[in-house]
Amino acid sequence: MDLAEKLEILADSAKYDVACTSSGVDRPGRHGALGSSAAAGICHAFTADGRCVSLLKVLYSNVCSYDCSYCVNRRSNDRPRATFTPRELAELTIGFYRRNYIEGLFLSSAVLGTPDRTMELMIEALRILREEYHFNGYIHAKTIPGADPMLVEKIGRLADRLSVNIELPSETSLTTLAPDKKKTAILRPMGQIAVQSAQSKKEMVLYRGAQPFAPAGQSTQMIIGATPETDRHIMDLTEGLYRKYSLKRVFYSAYLPVVEDRRLPALHTAPPLLREHRLYQADWLLRYYHFSARELLTEDEPNFDPYLDPKCTWAVRHPEFFPVEVNTASRAELLRVPGIGPKSALRIVEARRVQSLGMAELKRIGVVLKRAQYFITCKGKAAARGSRAEIAGALLDPKAFSVGMQQLSLDDFVPKALPDAAPAVQRLEAHGMAADVAARTVRQEALQCLTKRM
Ligand code: SF4
Repeated sequence: MDLAEKLEILADSAKYDVACTSSGVDRPGRHGALGSSAAAGICHAFTADGRCVSLLKVLYSNVCSYDCSYCVNRRSNDRPRATFTPRELAELTIGFYRRNYIEGLFLSSAVLGTPDRTMELMIEALRILREEYHFNGYIHAKTIPGADPMLVEKIGRLADRLSVNIELPSETSLTTLAPDKKKTAILRPMGQIAVQSAQSKKEMVLYRGAQPFAPAGQSTQMIIGATPETDRHIMDLTEGLYRKYSLKRVFYSAYLPVVEDRRLPALHTAPPLLREHRLYQADWLLRYYHFSARELLTEDEPNFDPYLDPKCTWAVRHPEFFPVEVNTASRAELLRVPGIGPKSALRIVEARRVQSLGMAELKRIGVVLKRAQYFITCKGKAAARGSRAEIAGALLDPKAFSVGMQQLSLDDFVPKALPDAAPAVQRLEAHGMAADVAARTVRQEALQCLTKRM
């Protein structure tokens, strides 16, 4: 098999992995070294469905000795297989880099024989890149659960970011669908990376020439919608991972059915992209808005509302918190107002040092008031008054009812529900209703429900 064929197979096999946004390392070019790395935006692109894909995102091998039932590369699946040699992979990366196709590498692998053997081969490929080709660009490498800690240490010295995929949101699901994988084998390297990464940061400050260890930190990915865990369970887990292992990112991957298996959603099931979007929004609230997972979802309402973003959902459930007076509220309180993000909160806090703020001043400093106006007061007066239906209409997320135009022939355009429209819109469309009518019907119903709840 020639290299082009291997690349085709192994790049295709890697496309289901979404944990590839590269960020966090800023390393200028060096004399005698090839490449540089900027703090964000290296080696990734966003596909139409919002997934992040790397320009050179490959598996070292897709020959797997494990049999995870949700995975196209599982042992029992009949598909073309390929494995690079370490030198082939290094030369391919350098060749692409020199042609300006890529700025870095995202390397993962199936379990080729054993976790240790797989990691040794990946490490050798990265060693050739770093030491022989003096490649200074960004490298994100997956660690294989179950590999020896010494190998995790080695790969962390060569890569900028490491990740260990948690795969499924609970141990029960892992046991059912990925019986070769053990929770401890996933969490142990995460713990090791967190400790060594923190140590290395200290050493870099204290000693000149200290060798960095995964300077861009670690991330993980979990599959959403293949198993029955609620959003609350997923958010609890996410919060714990951020806290315990200092993860930079948790990536959520809407399950795309690729295999027929009675334990998994049927092959024709649409991937839950809107749910994935809500989880990313909630993840953002944990990391930048000082929300806790338990505040966002309760035992009685364990899933996010498909029609509202998670912050609006929280606001609707907590009327006692509002209105917030923009001239006196803390930054943390401002951040809880729907429509006010970290930038607007900062602008408000800075602007009110020199003048007291009314609606005109808020508009002038660039605060978007479409939703916020119903939740704030300016100098003690309500910023806006609206009927319950008007407020509900401003809060509904247009993404949930998104319809695009699909061209069937040169002059034939039909409206089509976009992949991340609400499941109810997709269902009505699947039953034969025109997509724009389905979207309007579902929006009307959502509006009535929300108006009643307010
Ligand atoms: S270990 Fe499991 S998820 Fe990873 S490639 Fe093999 S079968 Fe797929």
